[in-house]
Amino acid sequence: MVEGVVKGKICIGCKEFKLFKDFNPNRGFLQPRCKICSSLYTRENQMKLVVAWEPTILEIYEEFRCQCCGVKLKWYLSGDGSDAVHFDHRVGDEPINKPANFIKTTTPTDEKIALFESCDFGMVCRRCNKLLGPPEGRKERWIQQGEYINRGPI
Ligand SMILES: [Zn+2]
Ligand SMILES: [Zn+2]
Repeated sequence: MVEGVVKGKICIGCKEFKLFKDFNPNRGFLQPRCKICSSLYTRENQMKLVVAWEPTILEIYEEFRCQCCGVKLKWYLSGDGSDAVHFDHRVGDEPINKPANFIKTTTPTDEKIALFESCDFGMVCRRCNKLLGPPEGRKERWIQQGEYINRGPI
């Protein structure tokens, strides 16, 4: 690289001069925000979308509570707390593959709300979500497990 050539640019978020390596690439260019600002920006946008979806979610589920074990749930933007809201696929081929991500990245237009509602996801905690397992063969599996438990000592 020739000496004197600019090796960075001003971030539109923090307005600081940052090196090119501090920006994520985006379709052959660099993002206008540095990596730090862009992750904050993403979180901010995700939070706005989660808040925008809340009335719809509450209309469908009435409250943030696991429909299996009854534990209170809340939203996490990142990480995965044991009381984080999980949406359970009850059929398997619902048009929304990752409902929590869908909500964090989608504006709740009438069309998107209808799409989400059509999936008829269950709201469960992480533990119950894991326990339930994949939707395929779920009932049969649980009947077998129920029979196993009934054969037990208690
Ligand atoms: Zn910045
Ligand atoms: Zn649960």
